[in-house]
Amino acid sequence: MPFVFTRRHELLHYINEQKEKQQSIGFVPTMGALHAGHAQLIRQSCELNNCTIVSIFVNPKQFGPNEDFANYPRTFQNDLDLITEIGAQAVFAPSVEEMYPQRFSTQVSVSGISEVLCGAFRPGHFNGVTNIVLLLMNLMRADTMYLGQKDFQQVQVIKKMVTDLAHPTTIVMVPTVREADGLAMSSRNRYLTDAARKKAAIIPRALALVAKEYLAGETAVSSLLHLCLQELKKFDLEPQYLEFRKVSDLTQKCQNHLEEETVLAIAQFIESNDTKVRLIDNIILDNNSTNKLSLEEFISRALS
Ligand code: AMP
Repeated sequence: MPFVFTRRHELLHYINEQKEKQQSIGFVPTMGALHAGHAQLIRQSCELNNCTIVSIFVNPKQFGPNEDFANYPRTFQNDLDLITEIGAQAVFAPSVEEMYPQRFSTQVSVSGISEVLCGAFRPGHFNGVTNIVLLLMNLMRADTMYLGQKDFQQVQVIKKMVTDLAHPTTIVMVPTVREADGLAMSSRNRYLTDAARKKAAIIPRALALVAKEYLAGETAVSSLLHLCLQELKKFDLEPQYLEFRKVSDLTQKCQNHLEEETVLAIAQFIESNDTKVRLIDNIILDNNSTNKLSLEEFISRALS
């Protein structure tokens, strides 16, 4: 069983002990409702560190007023069972008051990159993310923090914050874990009815069509976007955004041709009963051979 801490002082005491024993610390921040994607991050941390700490905190500051904070799935016992099975050493599951005591007044924000893609449609979202992640990173004093590619923009925003503020923790990005049909695992997939779940599989399908054309040599931005949008349209889907952006600087859209490492990022609402579930996904396109292999694997899943 991992240690479970809900108070900062308990966590700090435990971390001091680990530091005294010169144990390397791996940190995996989550909002709970854990699935195989989170499990992969935790597993990787356990393989490479003496001590892995998973945080579970549904952070109110990163949800907009009309978003799903109140209804966000909370499955603490299942989460704990999974973390125990993987073998992490500790869980930090604080209350909102523990993280944001009265008169909390600091705001950490990363300008530019936080305002494009998801940031353009969820104003303030990444400020909420950077605030909580920096606070958690300061408490954890981890050697390495593990983040998922599924939230690619989040990884880039946090990397920028860590570079700008010279934070000593190293960031590792873990590739997206997907369902058999290619859908990126997400805590929000559990909101999907069977019919909506089927429709959601069109998202990886449309991305995989682009990946296939790209590997076949197509680099024209307009043709690749057209291909993707057509596939979505066939199933009455219209993305909130679908954009090629430069990995080296997400504030820059790719023009004309894909010439350097590029991310194709999408946000798509899927209607499910009387709600709309917002799903995001992305693929990285470049000529690196490891990435080529993972794209091929993705294509065969999503188009089969
Ligand atoms: P969340 O609980 O949604 O805040 O996610 C916690 C961490 O798990 C973030 O770094 C996510 O990017 C990562 N994550 C979520 N889903 C996946 C997935 N399907 N594959 C890999 N990482 C993921």
